[in-house]
Amino acid sequence: MKDYLTILGAGLAGSEAAWQAAERGVSVVLYEMRPTKPTPAHKTDHCAELVCSNSLGNNQSPSAPYLLKEELRRFNSLVINAGDTHSVPAGAALAVDRDLFSKKITEQLLKHPNITLIREEVLEIPSEGPVIVATGPLTSPSLSESISRLIGQEYLYFYDAISPIIDANTIDYNKTFFASRYDKGTDDYLNCPLNEGQYYALVNELKIGEKVPFKSFEKPIYFEGCMPVEELAIRGDKTLAFGPLKPVGLLHPETKEQFYAVVQLRHENKEGTAFNLVGFQTKLTYPEQKRVIRMIPGLENAEFFRFGAIHRNTYINAPDVLSCDLDLKSNRGIYFAGQIIGVEGYVESVSMGLLAALSAVKKIKGEEYLIPPVDTALGSLLKYVTENRRQSFQPMNINYGLFQVNEMKIKNKRERNKNIESKALNSLSKWMDTIDGELVK
Ligand SMILES: Cc1cc2nc3c(=O)[nH]c(=O)nc-3n(C[C@H](O)[C@H](O)[C@H](O)COP(=O)(O)OP(=O)(O)OC[C@H]3O[C@@H](n4cnc5c(N)ncnc54)[C@H](O)[C@@H]3O)c2cc1C
Repeated sequence: MKDYLTILGAGLAGSEAAWQAAERGVSVVLYEMRPTKPTPAHKTDHCAELVCSNSLGNNQSPSAPYLLKEELRRFNSLVINAGDTHSVPAGAALAVDRDLFSKKITEQLLKHPNITLIREEVLEIPSEGPVIVATGPLTSPSLSESISRLIGQEYLYFYDAISPIIDANTIDYNKTFFASRYDKGTDDYLNCPLNEGQYYALVNELKIGEKVPFKSFEKPIYFEGCMPVEELAIRGDKTLAFGPLKPVGLLHPETKEQFYAVVQLRHENKEGTAFNLVGFQTKLTYPEQKRVIRMIPGLENAEFFRFGAIHRNTYINAPDVLSCDLDLKSNRGIYFAGQIIGVEGYVESVSMGLLAALSAVKKIKGEEYLIPPVDTALGSLLKYVTENRRQSFQPMNINYGLFQVNEMKIKNKRERNKNIESKALNSLSKWMDTIDGELVK
């Protein structure tokens, strides 16, 4: 076993893992293949680039996504700190200026004395650990083959879709209004209201619009939280009106009118020069995206900074192959972290980077490692990805359903969630003492 840590992939999980290990005095060699070799979704050479939405999810207490972020904050998370520093208005969510966010993370990694960043594609899993594999859902093909050989299994997969980004200068602000649902947070979302006729016309075009075809061997399997908008339209004419386009809680600020449906746009950057369409992931062809999205009131002349897209997203069968320390049961010292282990979401990926790093650092130092308690968000998510189960393994976001706590019986939802949160943070602070109490507070 080496006395330094090799990390493959400087995405969300790999960047966090590198930082956490380096802060604990361990030397880290971090490999990132961009810009030499691109992925189908990344656009820059920055570490921890956000490939789709610029939102890191709900940031309001009490909620499971907030709790996970708060636990990461207590570990002085590199990624969440960058998110807090470069947040943009987004109501209850923590959305970020994606450029400033990933630039800051890259700078922090580059100037850390314990981290060496090597811009190179890794083709094979190094034979000697400790290694953290954090190459994400778009792991390069050669490394994917190496992983398949090592774990003796085919990957699992599903499809993940990206929503379009629009030039703020090309929006008609006379037809749209700023407001957050139920006035939560400030008026951070720009809303495009649709009447009944406009809504059904849009649904119809989403259904018949030309889509990017799948390759013959690909069978589409979507993650529920990231369904393409046209797939939702195909499920039923009203599905969108009860889903991402639901109008409830969004009255016009002056006329107090309630609309049949509302398309929401969220700030993409601090300057407010770009907006993304919330929940509008799509696999329509680019010309069709232009045509159909321009049917939305206020977006008739929209110009696109980025079109929506769809990608195959791969992950390993973690409960079968990983120990609860996040290394391979068959090859101790080879750790996996991030989306590749079947957590779904940016912050979830970051959290697995943290846990893999803590575990690997303890191994390097020859100290005992205790996994996080199951009443914390970190512990619940870890349990989900590593515990054996009868049903097939599906990628998962953080949610209260994963927590093993008695509070689930409490009827008042807010009270229940508040209890879960305070217990989790108490439990976390005791567990942190077993990790390195004097270092992180
Ligand atoms: C198209 C798409 C859209 C998504 N949209 C969202 C979203 O909107 N919100 C959300 O919460 N989650 C989203 N996800 C899911 C997930 O949260 C992100 O993929 C997240 O970036 C995963 O973090 P990660 O660290 O595991 O992987 P990544 O952030 O992808 O990092 C992996 C890194 O490894 C590098 N790499 C790959 N192979 C090699 C190699 N052989 N050698 C060296 N480096 C390598 C890559 O260049 C990349 O930088 C999306 C995923 C995809 C694929």
